[in-house]
Amino acid sequence: MSSSNPHFCDLLTFNTLALPCQAKNFVMLSDLGQLQGLSTLLKKCQKPVHDNEPTKSTQDNLTNQANETNQPHQTNQPSLQTHWNILGGGSNLVLPKVLHQPVLHIQLKGIHLLDDQGLQNDQSVIKADKSTFYRIRVAAGENWHDWVTFALNKGWYGLENLALIPGSVGAAPVQNIGAYGVEVAQFIESVDVWNIETEQLLTLSAQDCDFAYRNSRFKRAHYSNEIIVAVNFALPKAWQPVLTYQDLKPLAQRYLNPSESITPHDVYQLVCEVRQRKLPNPALIPNAGSFFQNPVVPHEQAQALKAQHPNLVCYPQADGTTKLAAGWLIDTCGWKGKRLGSVGMHANQALVLVNPDGGHYDDVMTLADAVRHDVQTLFGVALQIEPICWMPDSSTHHTA
Ligand SMILES: Cc1cc2nc3c(=O)[nH]c(=O)nc-3n(C[C@H](O)[C@H](O)[C@H](O)COP(=O)(O)OP(=O)(O)OC[C@H]3O[C@@H](n4cnc5c(N)ncnc54)[C@H](O)[C@@H]3O)c2cc1C
Repeated sequence: MSSSNPHFCDLLTFNTLALPCQAKNFVMLSDLGQLQGLSTLLKKCQKPVHDNEPTKSTQDNLTNQANETNQPHQTNQPSLQTHWNILGGGSNLVLPKVLHQPVLHIQLKGIHLLDDQGLQNDQSVIKADKSTFYRIRVAAGENWHDWVTFALNKGWYGLENLALIPGSVGAAPVQNIGAYGVEVAQFIESVDVWNIETEQLLTLSAQDCDFAYRNSRFKRAHYSNEIIVAVNFALPKAWQPVLTYQDLKPLAQRYLNPSESITPHDVYQLVCEVRQRKLPNPALIPNAGSFFQNPVVPHEQAQALKAQHPNLVCYPQADGTTKLAAGWLIDTCGWKGKRLGSVGMHANQALVLVNPDGGHYDDVMTLADAVRHDVQTLFGVALQIEPICWMPDSSTHHTA
């Protein structure tokens, strides 16, 4: 079904945490021809605010930004508050009970191998060399795992480590999805966006996307007027496996043995097996994957923590900082397998918040606060929520 007229929709089945959410204005985008009309509709829902007010989602996101840049997010420049929400597969979201602002569900489909000409509007983007890369344009509404499988079967390799990540292709650049030593940013040449404000289709280079660990320009409130309509991938023709993660060690050993060989299909297979064994299937136990980001702390702080907690799991980073395993911190605080009302932290994966018994937004946030409080108290480390939390906005009741 496709529609550019808003209608009421219960989003319970549109988010993998299975949170009930009444969307008052639900719109599907299945054709680029709808963009102009949608811009007009969405712009009706804007109102001026000041930059120091929360915009895109929660205060959390702003806290993230302030932490990243070490600068308070305080200016008095007026900007436009976002009064729409873009929905992909709903696997990285925490939804409130009611949403008045329009929800735009991305359903754009299509996978195209690009020739040297690429797209009309990408002159400023440096294109990957066709002799060494496959360049492929994938529409935002394609399912991520289906695309990974499709690429593998076509002989376009590189994405195997990212198999079975739920969600859509359009959302992949938003938090620069990553798994088993690979991040999607490594394979993105550019991203096609529709700017709701200027009503222009733009191609952003990977550099413009400002990719970082579980972050990008698209996660920042300032750019929430950009709808990702397609992602342009550059997949190297010469395949190089990434087998650094412990779970992939069996393949690493085979790879190092000159008498054996491994294929991208082997990596894909093992990644799928490991994920199926380790992670709760949202269709059976509702969840949004990792609920907290792995905190990155100064090396000295990690050393001090290690002295106090010799089993601390941490990964030194190239820039001198240290990434701590949030799952270990949560587990050590006693939250693994523990419930708070209808929600809880998974019994095998302390990092995954689960909603087996029909919990709501408030239940999830209460548990998240309790976990963060305990981690802060025991380790002095602030955990950041990884999924995007959409806020209800009763001040805008849009009826088109
Ligand atoms: C079981 C499980 C395992 C997971 N494992 C991983 C993992 O290994 N690594 C990892 O990185 N993530 C993981 N995730 C998180 C999630 O799968 C990814 O973040 C995924 O990219 C979200 O895609 P989505 O389409 O569901 O996005 P949604 O949840 O619908 O949206 C997420 C954000 O992206 C924005 N967005 C979505 N589509 C667009 C668009 N077209 N244009 C602009 N903005 C858009 C939304 O507004 C929202 O802010 C996991 C989740 C689950 C449930």
